[in-house]
Amino acid sequence: ITEQKSYTERLEKTVAIRTDELKTALAAEKELNDLKTKFLSMVSHEFKTPLSGILTSSMLLGKYKLTEQQDKREKHIATITDKVQYLNVILNDFLSVEKLEKGKVNYKFSNFKISKVLNEVIYNANMVLKDGQHINYPENIDDLSLYQDEKIVELALSNLIYNAIKYSSENTIIDIKISQNKDTTLFIIKDNGIGIPKKDQKNIFQRYFRAENALLMQGTGIGLNIVKDHLENLNGSISFTSVEQKGSTFTIELPNKAEQ
Ligand code: ADP
Repeated sequence: ITEQKSYTERLEKTVAIRTDELKTALAAEKELNDLKTKFLSMVSHEFKTPLSGILTSSMLLGKYKLTEQQDKREKHIATITDKVQYLNVILNDFLSVEKLEKGKVNYKFSNFKISKVLNEVIYNANMVLKDGQHINYPENIDDLSLYQDEKIVELALSNLIYNAIKYSSENTIIDIKISQNKDTTLFIIKDNGIGIPKKDQKNIFQRYFRAENALLMQGTGIGLNIVKDHLENLNGSISFTSVEQKGSTFTIELPNKAEQ
């Protein structure tokens, strides 16, 4: 009887362990499914607004005769270009995620002037500034160069600058500072925007994460995650300080010379 009892006890223990394992597996599957649903809803949501803008503009465009109402045509063409550009950015972000995840990124290193990349990013950013917004940036940095992946530096700077614009209101200043020592370069991007709530700060680099106070603005929660992954692959880093309703300061540090 004692033997049978101990056998039953062992059996019960095994069953309990297996049940726990099954529960854990089911919970993991549910979490994955929830993530997929969240992702699909985020993608549909992000695509819906620009796509309906494109649709309306192109339908109206079809109504205007070529020679007439040139100003209206131009306005709708600008809307279409703007929305298509936005969709392109999102799609590139998705592709970057896929490449990073598969470890398939081939970095291409070259020597370039920081001012060249910065001027390009500022030129594009100036087109999407809100009324009265202004970007201050260093203009006398022709002597600063990097041996890095130029596209990644451009991606990182544009992500941070576009965020600074998006998460700040009209009539604010975005301040960019760049400094270089023997080994590394610092890029500092400061805004006076909505800031990041304290409770959300630890999650800000997680993929798809968006802070509560950011949800009114369009976004996917992918940009910072990609930037961080790329920078870390290049032995760099990204950090920030932020106070809600006051503003945020993001800092990128990158080696002047990439290791081959
Ligand atoms: P997205 O802007 O598409 O949501 P990001 O990955 O670029 O995604 O940023 C993740 C989140 O970090 C944003 O949703 C927002 O909550 C917060 N965030 C990023 N930059 C700023 C900023 N400059 N000011 C305030 N919040 C920011």
